[in-house]
Amino acid sequence: MSRKEVKKKRASKKRVFPKPSRPPQPALEVSVALRDFESKQAEIVETIRQLVEIESPSDSKPAVDRLGAMLAGRFEKLGGHAMFHRTPNFGDHLQVDFAGKRDAKPVLLLGHLDTVYPVSTLSAMPCRVADGKLWGPGAFDMKSGIAFMLHAIEALRARHDDTLPRPVTVLLVSDEEVGSDSSRRITESVARRCQAVLVVEPAYGPRGAVKTARKGVGEYTLKVTGKAAHSGLDFEKGESAIVELARQIPEIAKLTDLKRGLTLNVGTVQGGTRTNVIPGEASARLDVRIAHMKDGKEIDRRLRRLRPFNRKCKLEITGAINRPPMERTPAVAGLYQQAAAIARQLGWKLDEAAVGGGSDGNFTAALGIPTLDGLGAVGEGAHAANESVVIAELPRRAALLAALIEVI
Ligand SMILES: [Zn+2]
Repeated sequence: MSRKEVKKKRASKKRVFPKPSRPPQPALEVSVALRDFESKQAEIVETIRQLVEIESPSDSKPAVDRLGAMLAGRFEKLGGHAMFHRTPNFGDHLQVDFAGKRDAKPVLLLGHLDTVYPVSTLSAMPCRVADGKLWGPGAFDMKSGIAFMLHAIEALRARHDDTLPRPVTVLLVSDEEVGSDSSRRITESVARRCQAVLVVEPAYGPRGAVKTARKGVGEYTLKVTGKAAHSGLDFEKGESAIVELARQIPEIAKLTDLKRGLTLNVGTVQGGTRTNVIPGEASARLDVRIAHMKDGKEIDRRLRRLRPFNRKCKLEITGAINRPPMERTPAVAGLYQQAAAIARQLGWKLDEAAVGGGSDGNFTAALGIPTLDGLGAVGEGAHAANESVVIAELPRRAALLAALIEVI
């Protein structure tokens, strides 16, 4: 049997029927929808190219605002109501609300406008198509994801008499790549009134797995204050902050528990002034990753419980867990099952993955809102010179997003 025949057969056998408790939905013809997206592959590529060519580093408000304005226009053309959450130090966060046929809570399509690439990266790393891939800064993380939002909404409107089958809210924040400090509250308050969150961040690995678990992230600084002194004249009067810090680092390393998915990495150390001075100050910065919410409090407590070996040195620990983990709750697993069922109708086995990095989906999942991440493009090289997406994978990823909006 050819692949097409397999697709046809599965599509006819396995339609997704609405659950009895839900209002009636139109029968889903995923394979027909996929053919539509396949016929629009060149348009999707063109949209991604347009988005990549408007550079949008987190630290350039004018640049990010330019991308936000362009996208607000495109979403409004599709019938959305666009508004900006004004932000003084970062680009304004873009929210677009779409009404829907069905009286239901909106599905939130979540993503970010910003990239890690400074303005004019394009001159060294131009947007181009080669070897079946689209290359360029931010193509994978996550301008192709934004393109999927546009094309999925457009396709759904075409299928549902110029409206959407259900309400949809798009939220594109401007500071995800630098920790989401200015957007976190907005993301949480928008998500609270939504039924589910679809995060269109890059998919995982060459098979394009969606992400059903992400670690939580914390950042801490351990500062040691000792006593500076001349290393020749007053050696015994000094208290070395570097010696004390060096003794603390193995204590921190001991807190790592790989089985629990709990890791601590002392990423940088600093200290001292010159070789003939006993160092009065030293500090270390550490990255903490947790797979389970309850480990956050515990690790915070244990870090704050560190005591100096040299009683004449003082320890000061600052920092916090700033992204809670996205745990694979039954709600998250349920969304994944829905996505996997849609993929099966297309003869495609959609994998799931647990990853160490965080996204804004961590915030929404921690609120208990069903969240599925990694619905974006298949590709590689996020934040790197080889950042690219696989063009042949674009149609079915967009089809999956559209179908999920319909069935949730
Ligand atoms: Zn991203």
